[in-house]
Formats: sequence, C-alpha cells, structure tokens
Amino acid sequence: MKILYPGTFDPLTNGHLDIIQRAEKLFGNVVVAVLENTSKKPTFDLNKRIVQIKNAVSHLSNISVISYEGLTVDCAKEVNANLILRGLRAMSDFEYELQIAHTNKSLNTEIETIFLSTNTNYSFLSSSLVKEVAKFGGEIDHMVPDSVERDLKNYFKKD
Ligand code: ADP
Repeated sequence: MKILYPGTFDPLTNGHLDIIQRAEKLFGNVVVAVLENTSKKPTFDLNKRIVQIKNAVSHLSNISVISYEGLTVDCAKEVNANLILRGLRAMSDFEYELQIAHTNKSLNTEIETIFLSTNTNYSFLSSSLVKEVAKFGGEIDHMVPDSVERDLKNYFKKD
C-alpha cells in the first residue's frame, strides 16, 4: 500500500525520519511530499530539503521523495496514494491536524488520513525548535540526521 507523507520539512528532523521508517514497515511504500510552502518562508529551499530527505532515507528501499504545490489531496491522487500520513506530537497538533484531515476528506472522500503518534524520544522535536537551538550554537546531533546537522551549522555560520 502506498501512503503520502506531506510536510514542509524545513528541515527534516529525527521525529519525521522515525515516522517515515515506521510507515514504511506498516504500509510498504511511502512517498514523502515536500511542500514548497512560500507562505512559511522556508529556511532551506525546496531542492535542499529534498536532498536532505533523500540522504536520510538512502538506507531504505521503498521511499520516494517528491515536491508539490497546491492541494495535498491532488498530490495524493497524482501519485496514486489513497492514504495521507501525518504525525502527532501533542494535543496542540491534534486540533490542527484534525481540521486539515476533515478539510481533505471534504475535498476527496476516497482519501483517508492516518495519524502516527510520535516516538517518545522525539516528541519534543520540531523543525523550528531545532533551528532555534542551531542558531545559538547548541548541540543538535541527537535531533536531526547528519546531513541536516551539517547544513544547519553552515547556515547559521553565515550570520
Ligand atoms: P507542516 O508544515 O505540514 O506541519 P512539518 O514539516 O512541520 O510540516 O510536519 C510534517 C508532519 O510531521 C506533521 O504531521 C507534523 O505533525 C509531523 N511531525 C513533526 N515533527 C514531528 C515529531 N517530532 N514526531 C512526529 N511527527 C512529527
């Protein structure tokens, strides 16, 4: 079964990676869909985020990484996935995620949203928090894959 995992991934964290690995075991085929998301003014451009994810999943065989713009349900349809995957860390995620899931359902009733709860070890992680720590020179090697760590260190060296 194929499942679409959409997000901004600016950048990918170990929390995202854990979700991808568990989804691969559960569903077989995971398509990570990176949203251009100009409204969030990403730190890393689309290509950089895609390369970061490809590097982090290179040891896995059933993961593909694509970019998309527009509606997530349209992207799911395009790649032939009937499932959308989202991760849940806390109640604060739940309210927002449920609203998106209902919206997507109203747009396409064929597509179901599945939630995986975070791994306890990564429940505190978010892309923005990792960037905040990296900005002030804090240790991030337990939060992100190696290539993301390098990119973040380079990025904040510039400032
Ligand atoms: P978006 O901008 O679409 O929320 P994100 O890259 O922030 O994109 O997150 C993509 C998905 O991954 C979301 O469902 C989010 O809740 C989930 N996620 C983010 N961080 C974690 C984590 N540490 N553990 C589990 N899921 C997470």
